[in-house]
Amino acid sequence: MHFQTKALHEGYTKDMQGTMAVPIYQTTAYEFRDAEHAANLFALKELGNIYTRLNNPTTDVFEKRFASLEGGAAALATSSGMSAIFYALANAAEAGDNIVCAAQLYGGSLTLTAHTMKRFGIEARFFDVHNPAEAEKLIDEKTKALFFETLTNPSIDVPNISELASLADKYGILSIVDNTVATPALCRPIEHGIDVVVHSASKYTTGQGLAIGGIMVERSNLVDKLRGNARYPQFNEPDASYHGLVYVDVPLPPYTLRGRLSLLRDIGAVGSPFNSWLFIQGLETLQIRMKEHSHNALMLAKFLETHPKVKRVNYPGLSSNKNYANASRYFDGGMSSGLLSFEVADLETAKQVVDATQLYSLVVNIGDSKSIITHPASTTHQQLSAEEMDACGVPAGLIRISAGLENAEDLIADIKQALEAAS
Ligand code: PLP
Repeated sequence: MHFQTKALHEGYTKDMQGTMAVPIYQTTAYEFRDAEHAANLFALKELGNIYTRLNNPTTDVFEKRFASLEGGAAALATSSGMSAIFYALANAAEAGDNIVCAAQLYGGSLTLTAHTMKRFGIEARFFDVHNPAEAEKLIDEKTKALFFETLTNPSIDVPNISELASLADKYGILSIVDNTVATPALCRPIEHGIDVVVHSASKYTTGQGLAIGGIMVERSNLVDKLRGNARYPQFNEPDASYHGLVYVDVPLPPYTLRGRLSLLRDIGAVGSPFNSWLFIQGLETLQIRMKEHSHNALMLAKFLETHPKVKRVNYPGLSSNKNYANASRYFDGGMSSGLLSFEVADLETAKQVVDATQLYSLVVNIGDSKSIITHPASTTHQQLSAEEMDACGVPAGLIRISAGLENAEDLIADIKQALEAAS
């Protein structure tokens, strides 16, 4: 089945009422038929609903549909993109281990990996996403994951995905990517050899800025990489917290299973059924929206490239852009999402431009149907040191735009008057 057909139908079998819309199962828990049924569910002899922290029928449709759109085997929905990223990394690494991460990461992922996970004893080692050789030098026997974004936010780089996937394979390490900005409508990293894909569903998935959520997707046959792999004893040895369960011995996708039974159970950052329902609505139009977002961003990028007050424009859909070759190779139909950035002279000019726009909302979000403008140096990246900001490609004069679904001519006219208003 094609993407758009799956986006409308996958994972939902109409219930007895025949409801066209997926019902919202707003419940905390589920009644067991009898004590044996309850015991079987807990022992995984039978699969079914136990408690909404672990599973929920509405969320199940969202997970199945998203897994299918990514070309994966299974998915785990979470309460936010950050919790999906944390689960994906914490599923791989423990205290004493390290993860090799692209320096060009979303600000929250940078602070999570560089600071918060460090306090859990997991070290993050950073490499330039365009330099796999640098990543290779950082890998040792304690490396448990190679982590990067398929379309980086906010630096807007597109790495050579299959080269990095092959590097992880060479060392038997898990490759984990954040595909939030590209979305499965543009890019399906599993097709390029990636093991685990994570998302903030708060962006293009909801599509209208309606809810916070996240999801982790695992590829088919990941068990083959994990079974007998000395890097991952947690999948090969009995889990004392789950009466000795050995994850690679269960005939279910192991990364999702351990994420659900161990991390979701104990940490509990679960998505709500209502938010899952919103994400299901968003997925129905994802592909159509991504075409329009990409078109508007390209029109804006072409205009900005010609403006004298703009030092440089970063949009992978521009043939002049250093990421153009990778974007053409990995993204469908020349689409590059709605995310673009451009640099003006300095911090003050950037603030003036942002303040002078009228159509763009000054918001720290992306992927809304309404266009958004952000100044990373004074917002999302304010907590980073000057060295960290430089390393992740965010100079003080950088302005990021998330092109919405307004008419492209209106978007261009507004940014033009804002640039002219700035001194
Ligand atoms: N990953 C990327 C690329 C993001 O842009 C964001 C948020 O902006 C996140 C992850 C975090 O997602 P959430 O806000 O849903 O926790």
